[in-house]
Amino acid sequence: MQKVILSTQNVSKSFGSNVVLKDINLKIFEGESIVFIGPSGSGKSVLLKLLAGIYPPSSGQVFIRDENWQALESEEKHHLARKLGMMFQQGALFDTLTAFENVKFPINEHYDLPEEEVNKMATDILARVNLQEAHHKIPSELSGGMQKRLAIARALVLNPEVVFYDDPVAGQDPIQSDLMSDLILEFKRKNNSTLVMSTSNMRTAFKVADRIFMVVHKEVIETGNPEQTKNHSDPRVQQFINGRVEGPLKAR
Ligand code: ADP
Ligand code: MG
Repeated sequence: MQKVILSTQNVSKSFGSNVVLKDINLKIFEGESIVFIGPSGSGKSVLLKLLAGIYPPSSGQVFIRDENWQALESEEKHHLARKLGMMFQQGALFDTLTAFENVKFPINEHYDLPEEEVNKMATDILARVNLQEAHHKIPSELSGGMQKRLAIARALVLNPEVVFYDDPVAGQDPIQSDLMSDLILEFKRKNNSTLVMSTSNMRTAFKVADRIFMVVHKEVIETGNPEQTKNHSDPRVQQFINGRVEGPLKAR
């Protein structure tokens, strides 16, 4: 039997009067690659933050394994956070820290290890994302693609069991996007980790996902594997994956 690693029970999330998600029930199993697609502003980032325990739900419950995020003390949350890697759209990197310092940060935040060992972990992860030449550079001195790779390195330096990627290929050209998804998949296979990603790039979604969910009209619809998603009967799914202007989804 596959083990459930993340789940939601009747989760809703509002900001003031803005209801973003309503009554979401989903289960994510250990080792899966889950991708959330959906129009911009539909709530993909919010959903990822709910699952990662960063946002509390307005109602309902979010579980990581058997633990209810809401019931955890902040120390227990901090402890659990070691096992989670996160690459979020904003605020992933510290602007004034070098690449080397950026990847050392989560290690020192969670562990008390000898400097030598920390340096080795940082050196290894930077080499794996091909940034060995960029140790002493700060993010603004790196290209967009290099910044993304640095953010991935930072998310993965502690070998997390679950990795959240919020729109990791946004603003990347198709070749860079493919390189990024290859890198993301390579780490996932090596670490046997669970992957939870949001993206509006269908090419990336089809490449990475075991199962795809579409966030639309405050709901989360499971559309199945890439093949099933391509053939899904919901007109909103068809409109979105084929990028058509005409249809039930309105651009915003
Ligand atoms: P997506 O990632 O699908 O583009 P988001 O999850 O970022 O969409 O946003 C969904 C909705 O939630 C938007 O209407 C956005 O304005 C709102 N929202 C997200 N985060 C916050 C926040 N911290 N405070 C208030 N509203 C928010
Ligand atoms: Mg988003």
